[in-house]
Amino acid sequence: MQHTDEMSCKELVEIITEYLEGTLPPGERVRFEEHLALCEGCQNYLEQMRQTIGTLGRLSEEAIPANAKEKLLQAFRAWKRGSAPQKQ
Ligand SMILES: [Zn+2]
Repeated sequence: MQHTDEMSCKELVEIITEYLEGTLPPGERVRFEEHLALCEGCQNYLEQMRQTIGTLGRLSEEAIPANAKEKLLQAFRAWKRGSAPQKQ
């Protein structure tokens, strides 16, 4: 494992349900919030998740289709590419 202190977007997505349910261990929660503070993509994702929960009234793994996770990770990659300087 490299960068054990730094949470990746993928890792955040994996534990977001636990975060929202309040079952995340305190140490993980700190790392989650540290990443969130720096990552606009994950802030947007968390907001979407909150809206999903608001709509369903509960949270379950089924609320997140598997391909939605994949799409999200693709969006992150595109977003990171988009923020990089363009090739000449
Ligand atoms: Zn992120």
